Amino acid sequence: MVKPVITGRTKLVGILGHPITHTLSPAMHNAAFAALGLDFAYLPFDVRPEELKNAVAGIRALSIVGVNVTVPHKETVLDSLDVVTEAAGLIGAVNTIVNHDGRLTGYNTDAIGFLKALEDTGFDPRGKEAAVLGAGGAARAVGAALGMSRIRRITFFNRTLERAKELAQMVAGATGVQSTAVPWEEMGKSGMSIIRSADIVVQTTSIGMHPREAECPPVPADAFRKDQVVVDLVYNPAPTRFLKRAAAAGARTQDGVRMLLHQGAAAFELWTGRPAPITVMENALKTAQAASQVAEHP
Ligand code: NAP
Repeated sequence: MVKPVITGRTKLVGILGHPITHTLSPAMHNAAFAALGLDFAYLPFDVRPEELKNAVAGIRALSIVGVNVTVPHKETVLDSLDVVTEAAGLIGAVNTIVNHDGRLTGYNTDAIGFLKALEDTGFDPRGKEAAVLGAGGAARAVGAALGMSRIRRITFFNRTLERAKELAQMVAGATGVQSTAVPWEEMGKSGMSIIRSADIVVQTTSIGMHPREAECPPVPADAFRKDQVVVDLVYNPAPTRFLKRAAAAGARTQDGVRMLLHQGAAAFELWTGRPAPITVMENALKTAQAASQVAEHP
C-alpha cells in the first residue's frame, strides 16, 4: 500500500463514530486518493455522543472537506447541519457531510450504495416482495431505496415494533409502496411464510456483527429458499452466521462489503468531484478486512 504523504496543501476528510477502531473506510479512501494522486488524507475520529456538536463545529473550524458519519451519530447529526438533502431528510439519517465554505450539507449515500450493490447481484426490485429485518438507520435507507425502485411490497420485522410501524408509514407515504410492520418474534412463527415468499430478504440489524458473531436473527433455515436473494448489511464478519444459513439453503447471498464499497464511492465523488476508482477501493477493502480478521483471530 502507498503511504500518504502529508503536505501543507493536504485536504482532510474522515469518519465520525463511536467506537471507530473497526472501520475499514480509511483504508478504502486513502488507497483511492493515492491511486488518483489526490492530496487528501482520511482519518478516523472517535467522537463520543456528548461531543458530536463540538466535532461538527470542528469540521467548519478546521476547514475539513467532509466526513462520513457512522453509528451512533447518523440520526443525531442532522440537527447540527446547515442543509440536508431531500433523500437524507426522508431517511432521517446522514452518513456523509460535505463542507461547502463552512456550510455543511448532509447526504445519505447508504441508499444508493445499497442499490448499486444489489445491481451487482443482478436483482431487479421492480414488482417484487421484500422482507427487511430491522428498522434502524440502515433499514430506513434500504426501505427508501427499495421503495424508490418500485418494489411491490415490503415487510419490516423489528424488535421495537413502533419503530417498524413508523418506517413502514414513511415508505408507504413517500413511495406509495405497500409496507407493513411485523413483530420480531413472529419471524419463526406466522412471519415465516412472509420470509419464504419474499424475493429478497435484507438483514439490516447489527446482530451477528463482531464481537457478536455467534448471534443470528431467529429465521429458521427452512424459511429460506433456492434463488431467493438474501443480503446481510453486516461486513464484519463477512459472511455472518445468518448469511451462511441462507447460502446453505440455496439462496443467492451478498454480504455488506459491496454496499460499504458503493456508499464509500458515492461519498468519495461528493468530496473530490472525481469518479471513484472502484477496483482500487474494493481491493483495499478486501486487504483491510483480511488484516482485521487476522488481528482479531491471530
Ligand atoms: P441502528 O440504527 O442502531 O439500528 C439497529 C437495528 O438493529 C435496530 O433495528 C435494532 O432494533 C436492531 N437490533 C440490534 N440488536 C438487536 C437484538 N439483539 N435483537 C433484535 N434486534 C436488534 O444501526 P444501523 O445504523 O441501522 O446499523 C445496523 C447494521 O448495519 C450495523 O451492523 C452496521 O454496521 C450495518 N451497516 C452496514 C452498511 C454497509 O455499508 N454495509 C451501512 C450501514 C449500516 P430496535 O429498533 O429494537 O433497537
